[in-house]
Amino acid sequence: MPSCSFAELEIRSVQRIQTYTINDHVYNRIPSTIGCFECRVRPGQLHVPGCDSELCPACKGRTNYCNCIFTDPGDEELTD
Ligand SMILES: [Zn+2]
Ligand SMILES: [Zn+2]
Repeated sequence: MPSCSFAELEIRSVQRIQTYTINDHVYNRIPSTIGCFECRVRPGQLHVPGCDSELCPACKGRTNYCNCIFTDPGDEELTD
């Protein structure tokens, strides 16, 4: 059986998500430097969103534990 996996496809697709909107500012995401044991990305690749090891580009803490406010680009509130 080939070991090419579903995760591999997901990792490839998330490389297109290069920025996060945090606290109303757009930041470039921080790629993994040595590869990631959590989401299996290779060195230089961006983490799968939600990965425990991803660093927040605003405060350099872990995204899952910092207090920054991430805005989901598909979840913009439109008021009229
Ligand atoms: Zn990761
Ligand atoms: Zn943060």
